[in-house]
Amino acid sequence: MAAVSLPGRTSASQSRLTDSHGRVILDLRVSITDRCNYKCVYCRTGEMGAQYPELRIDEYLRLIRLFVDLGIIKVRLTGGEPLLRPGLVELVKELKALRTPAGLPLDLALTTNGHLLEGLAEPLKAAGLDRVTVSMDAVEALTFERITRIPGSFETVLQGVRAARAVGLTPLKINCVLLRGFNEGQIEGFVRFAREEGVVVRFIEFMPLEEGRLWTPEIVVPLDEIVARIGRLLPLTELPPRDASETARRYSFLDGVGEIGIIAPVSQAFCGACSRVRLTSDGKIRTCLFSQVEHDLYGRMRAGEGDEELRAYIVRTVQVKETRHHIGEPEFLKPSRSMVHIGG
Ligand code: SAM
Repeated sequence: MAAVSLPGRTSASQSRLTDSHGRVILDLRVSITDRCNYKCVYCRTGEMGAQYPELRIDEYLRLIRLFVDLGIIKVRLTGGEPLLRPGLVELVKELKALRTPAGLPLDLALTTNGHLLEGLAEPLKAAGLDRVTVSMDAVEALTFERITRIPGSFETVLQGVRAARAVGLTPLKINCVLLRGFNEGQIEGFVRFAREEGVVVRFIEFMPLEEGRLWTPEIVVPLDEIVARIGRLLPLTELPPRDASETARRYSFLDGVGEIGIIAPVSQAFCGACSRVRLTSDGKIRTCLFSQVEHDLYGRMRAGEGDEELRAYIVRTVQVKETRHHIGEPEFLKPSRSMVHIGG
């Protein structure tokens, strides 16, 4: 199926960030804290808290601006839990004032657990945030709270989702990580939820990025199984990809109501079209979720390097982006940081 380019993506030719495999880097994910107010059982052991320092908001801004100068067109703020971070609204406002090399505003998104979203949706929208993705791993309150280990969290997040949709932080996406024997019974409920709440629900295959040691190939609920299961409830039609680097395979229903996405990094890896790099909360560049090495951009900034030198460092770093991940292969090595400390 041919990929259709998004308007902003036509500025790819202006990007100076291309890796040694010819992949153009257009997307930057920035963790602004590795603290989190949830202890999701598949992500965290519950014993570990924050592990890495946070930068000042103006320092994140300076580092992000370097990437934007080099052709980044989409910035996603994440964590940890980004809504915990004081100064977030001001950061969004400053980011919205930046311009890509093509003179366009950034595509500005945020990933959150939604716990503090009800109060922050309106100020974030006013500051210039375009979209949010909210993580929800169940649509039943009890199952949800068993996962987050926070009483009352389901209702709080639901209000956050509704507030975000009401102020226009849309299309609003819900990310659900599926684990076999744990929450795959939620799939059908999520289909109804997507259609009733007017949100895009995306199921994600579980990756070996947890603090503990839970991951096995058997625990992953693969794309084919999710599609088959939804298809037994309602016939699905696959939607064309909007962009070659899109992580989710998208589906709708015969009546056109509701959209489901499936992100399948394990069963159908999309590394060949990856357009992402990450900046951790302590200012290190990670060229892959599964990188074994990090690149200390902030350390160089602290040491007094100027913007020109820092940009040259970013260009060199992107060059060594990994070809692909090795999940499920004998040589797979778990990265030194887990998802919550990298920035999902
Ligand atoms: N606190 C925010 C949130 O909950 O969305 C942002 C950080 S969280 C680490 C980002 C996303 O990573 C969440 O959707 C979470 O479910 C997902 N995630 C965490 N561990 C994962 C894993 N091992 N495999 C796949 N996704 C994972």
